[in-house]
Amino acid sequence: AANERESLYLVSEYASKYFQNILHKTDQGKSIGLSYFKERGFTEDTIKKFDLGYALDEWQAFTDEALKQGYNIDYLEKTGLTIVKDTKRFDRFKGRVLFPIKSMSGRILGFGGRILINDKKAAKYLNSPESDIYHKSKVLYGIFHAKQSIAKEDNCYLVEGYTDVIQFHQTGIKNVVSSSGTALTSDQIRLINRLTKNITVLFDSDAAGMRASLRGIDLILEQGMNVKVCTFPDGEDPDSFAKKNSLEELALYLEENSKDFIQFKASVLFEESKNDPIKKAETVRDIVNSISKIPDRIKKEIYIQECARIMDISEAVLFSTLAQINKKEF
Ligand code: ATP
Ligand code: MN
Ligand code: MN
Ligand code: MN
Repeated sequence: AANERESLYLVSEYASKYFQNILHKTDQGKSIGLSYFKERGFTEDTIKKFDLGYALDEWQAFTDEALKQGYNIDYLEKTGLTIVKDTKRFDRFKGRVLFPIKSMSGRILGFGGRILINDKKAAKYLNSPESDIYHKSKVLYGIFHAKQSIAKEDNCYLVEGYTDVIQFHQTGIKNVVSSSGTALTSDQIRLINRLTKNITVLFDSDAAGMRASLRGIDLILEQGMNVKVCTFPDGEDPDSFAKKNSLEELALYLEENSKDFIQFKASVLFEESKNDPIKKAETVRDIVNSISKIPDRIKKEIYIQECARIMDISEAVLFSTLAQINKKEF
């Protein structure tokens, strides 16, 4: 019910304040959490702007304090801040730096927590579980801080991680959000669609998930939006690249390296398959399948023409492939 959701918001709000206080005011917070953020190049202003926090490396320091302040154990458990096992209670985010995840209107929905030392046994990032206020497929990290700038610039940069969003802001680019590790969903795209019709997807250059991401992008086309993609030099992600460059350099890089998605996909796949007729046939279907998602008929036709040119194949073949795909969908 609405009442219960309000209670979950309140406990999340409290937790965020508590974790910020730990980060800025305690010895452990300062020497471990704050110095971690500073090593990553985040300034004091940036750390405050994003409400970054730290959870003490103790089993139930947070839970004990929240209970003492009168917060109900049920809500602590439902938000996932406290893990309850039999009669024992554990702090979920123990020993992690924390990134609060906010709604479009700035309410705290959940947290992402990063371990400080890369250790193969523990997940690098741990997120709040799904709850009545946190649905990970429906939120975009950074949307609260980005919304005005997305509308003003009439474009939204989409990145993979929390730190990419934060480093872009610090460098001076504010129209940026992250799906934070989940595969992009239609609900997330709809949030952006309210603000602009233009998305530029920025890939990490590790590109492990690049092929999978290419699929996710079809969902953007389906909503009639324009998609560009931009890749980074080897070993870089948007965070590391922004950290090394000035605003002018970053803006120039983005401008020079953002490519129309369909053209990008056609050229990448074509490079991979041009000497192999069977693969090439697959590629053609793959590209045409993406084009088939575009609602606007004129746009569709223009893309068919361009792909025919890029892939050195006749428009007629592409149009008949498109017709086949359309038939299958009915
Ligand atoms: P960092 O720079 O802190 O190492 P990153 O943002 O570059 O982090 P990536 O490995 O590129 O991290 O992953 C992108 C995003 O995917 C992360 O920001 C996080 O939201 C999510 N993610 C990464 N690893 C995990 C994990 N083990 N469990 C859950 N989510 C994860
Ligand atoms: Mn990555
Ligand atoms: Mn990354
Ligand atoms: Mn990174």
